[in-house]
Amino acid sequence: MSVRLFFALWPNDALREQIWRVSRRGVTACEGRPVIRENLHMTLAFLGSVNAELLPRIRAAAADIQMPGFEFRLDEMGYWVRPRALVIQPASFPAALPALVQALWQALGPLQLTGKPGAAGAYRPHVTIARKAVCPAELVLETPVHWVVRDFCLVSSVTDPAGARYEPLARYHLLQADTQANDSRGIGAC
Ligand code: ATP
Ligand code: MG
Repeated sequence: MSVRLFFALWPNDALREQIWRVSRRGVTACEGRPVIRENLHMTLAFLGSVNAELLPRIRAAAADIQMPGFEFRLDEMGYWVRPRALVIQPASFPAALPALVQALWQALGPLQLTGKPGAAGAYRPHVTIARKAVCPAELVLETPVHWVVRDFCLVSSVTDPAGARYEPLARYHLLQADTQANDSRGIGAC
């Protein structure tokens, strides 16, 4: 059996609500297919379809990661022409974000997943808010969203006739600034 997997920053309910609220105007203007509220996330690494037997090793690889938490602001609305996606994205972000992505791919390296990992250098952090979109006349995000990242999730993607449904399988804590001297990692269910 195979599962479709990706690692992501998974917003808590309050943050999810904010992302939802600030993106409404753009989503309406783009005439596209809105990403449902429960699916809003920022992909870190897309693994694609993998053999379910690899799950324990994937979880273990992620649990080994010791990286600091970080923060950024989603402060731009953008339109990606080729995937016809409307996104919100940070104009700038700390190096800790691509470093986490790189650490994930490095940790997953020995598993030799057949999915094609994008080069970490090409990583473009974003939250997709609509697909099959046209570019709105105005690409404006009136209120930026502050994202405090303290953990990341392994998520499974199930394709239903109605669209993709995401299920967080595990949450991995990042190190906190004041406790980095200690091993403050933890793992738990989402
Ligand atoms: P659908 O493919 O049914 O339209 P979806 O794109 O929301 O739905 P998935 O294809 O399972 O669902 O993708 C899960 C997440 O991984 C999404 O954030 C998607 O943008 C991202 N993703 C999918 N394919 C790739 C890829 N080849 N490279 C990088 N990220 C990807
Ligand atoms: Mg897809």
